[in-house]
Amino acid sequence: MVPEGETVEGGCLCGAIRYKLTGPTLYCTQCCCIDCQKATGTGHTTIIGIHRDQLDVAGSPKIYTTHGDTGGRVNRHFCGECGGRLYTSGDLPGPIVMVQAGSLDDPNVVTPSTVIYTKDATQWDRFDPALPAFPAMGKRSPEAQAALDEIKRRPVTTAVM
Ligand SMILES: [Zn+2]
Ligand SMILES: [Zn+2]
Repeated sequence: MVPEGETVEGGCLCGAIRYKLTGPTLYCTQCCCIDCQKATGTGHTTIIGIHRDQLDVAGSPKIYTTHGDTGGRVNRHFCGECGGRLYTSGDLPGPIVMVQAGSLDDPNVVTPSTVIYTKDATQWDRFDPALPAFPAMGKRSPEAQAALDEIKRRPVTTAVM
């Protein structure tokens, strides 16, 4: 994970959009839902949760909005030139954005800790069997959920999500 105060960089395939991500990363999850499969053309997407203010984006991503199965808008931000996926924002996560781990210049700075939406997983995708896996949304310990709820209450001071 990216520790507090440390900054890593990432961007899309063509380099038109670049970003700086400052730790601490809150979680890293592999999501197998159908929307993630369709949006990425892969078996699952690996996402890193951070507060919006921890992401500094240079360039203007395009946004494609759908509605999640728990309600609320899901906004997928991607490069209009190369199609590279960058991050997702939405109503329910509020100020939390989910960065596509594969868009980091060094994706190995994070390690997934859970797998979610395994009910939709393809037969050929493989995950670390040691990771907690959930059929749909993941469940956090009360302490982890309280910490995340506290961060969600922090206002967003940067530009539009
Ligand atoms: Zn691009
Ligand atoms: Zn998903």
